[in-house]
Amino acid sequence: MKKRVVVIGAGLCGSVVSTLLRDDFEVTVVEQGRKKKPLFTDVDCPTGELNTSINRAEGLGGTTNYWHNALIELAADDLRKAGIVPATIAPYYQKAWSFFLGKSELDDCNRARDANLAHLQSAISTVAHMVLPQARHNVWQLANKTNPGADIAVEYGHAEKIVAPTAGARGYVEIREAHGDRGLRRLDADVVVTCAGGLGTPVLLARSLGQDDGFVPGYHDHPMAYVAKVKLRPDSRLKAISCTTTRAAEVRAGIVYETDDLKTVVYLRPAVDLRLGSITGPARYILSDLRNDPFSPKKIMMLLGNLEAVREAILFKTGLGFRGDYYSVLILGEQTPLPTRGIAMTTGKRPLLNWEVTPAELASYDASVTKFLAEFAADIVEHEVVPTPTWAFRNAAHHSGTANQFCAVPGDASLDFFAAKGLPGAFVCDGSVLRAGGIANSGLTLVALSYRLAELIRADA
Ligand SMILES: Cc1cc2nc3c(=O)[nH]c(=O)nc-3n(C[C@H](O)[C@H](O)[C@H](O)COP(=O)(O)OP(=O)(O)OC[C@H]3O[C@@H](n4cnc5c(N)ncnc54)[C@H](O)[C@@H]3O)c2cc1C
Repeated sequence: MKKRVVVIGAGLCGSVVSTLLRDDFEVTVVEQGRKKKPLFTDVDCPTGELNTSINRAEGLGGTTNYWHNALIELAADDLRKAGIVPATIAPYYQKAWSFFLGKSELDDCNRARDANLAHLQSAISTVAHMVLPQARHNVWQLANKTNPGADIAVEYGHAEKIVAPTAGARGYVEIREAHGDRGLRRLDADVVVTCAGGLGTPVLLARSLGQDDGFVPGYHDHPMAYVAKVKLRPDSRLKAISCTTTRAAEVRAGIVYETDDLKTVVYLRPAVDLRLGSITGPARYILSDLRNDPFSPKKIMMLLGNLEAVREAILFKTGLGFRGDYYSVLILGEQTPLPTRGIAMTTGKRPLLNWEVTPAELASYDASVTKFLAEFAADIVEHEVVPTPTWAFRNAAHHSGTANQFCAVPGDASLDFFAAKGLPGAFVCDGSVLRAGGIANSGLTLVALSYRLAELIRADA
């Protein structure tokens, strides 16, 4: 008889892991949402628009029901900070790229990457290579198409607790009917893989270990903010690298600076002029928000109130603005785990995330933006900067680092890397295992880790 693997969460990682294990194990996925739906109430957080714009989601595919699927690798130094030896993850990055793009499509993107690198060689900055496949994938669907095989059972409900095996008794997962109170049921498991996301997993692990009122430190994300507008010289090299369209994807080059051991990446987005109204205030992400939430009256009102932001969003989404002279400067900053930034749990209440940008992080991002303006002074004809104290940071939904205290052995390339301490047979695979994220959107790395974990579980069996 095959062993049973229970995968908790059918989002990005849960979809990849479960489809890779389906032929070797009896796989059951526990997913709290029956339908695709944004999550606004699972965690309280007063900052970062975590609960006012779509930031995470439930249903098969999890947050990938709404994501942009921008793909980018972590740089080697960031992998090392994350406890991942670059050479050991390289083959899995290749699998992750191939999961999203065919060979010739990838070759096109790599050619664009090499051209961008040649344009921007510099001693002051490095280049981030971001690829946006034109098809926005729900990863549950993509993973089932890419890795077909034996049936995967889906149990709808909220995993409350993982109970480790004891001598003679199998381990199990306790499940409550999602959004209801129909009591607990028990799902026996030989192996449990927790993929409930960077906010869901730490809460589940803390409860499983009896820390219902605990504090889980280590949370980090990529704060993002519009910080300036620039007018470029007509022949500026920045225009050539900001967005290259290939047959299957868009390739965007970000320019990365490091100050006081924290990275900041600068992306340019087409603009109409130098006025700052379109990149300040609530309408600044308007088209992205409306695409995911098209019938929100509040957002439609905002849209009508800031037509300049709409024009710029259209220039960006259609790619028409990438040869113009005006650009907005969007930054994403690195955060590292802090002992004070994380999720506080209180019995009977929602978990509370104290996400914030610290003064030291702000100072680092500010210095990096100054470096960008200085490095490209010859390309920038004019610029307008948003005053630093008013930079309105938004959470980028790359919830990371929250399982650091629960997960074993950074730097290890074996199953121990993913093993949940104190819960034999349980493994963690999602943003919560990432001890560092550099400036990279974490999705590609999470897919690479999912491939690695699935291979290790198969080998172990
Ligand atoms: C608008 C938007 C755009 C984004 N764009 C990008 C991008 O371009 N590139 C990129 O790399 N990343 C992007 N992200 C982030 C990316 O979507 C997430 O990093 C990724 O989905 C995380 O994968 P995951 O498997 O950790 O969690 P998720 O995909 O969030 O899945 C977790 C799943 O677990 C379920 N779950 C949680 N708790 C429980 C429980 N106790 N019991 C049962 N089920 C549970 C949830 O319902 C969910 O289905 C974006 C996010 C958003 C919101």
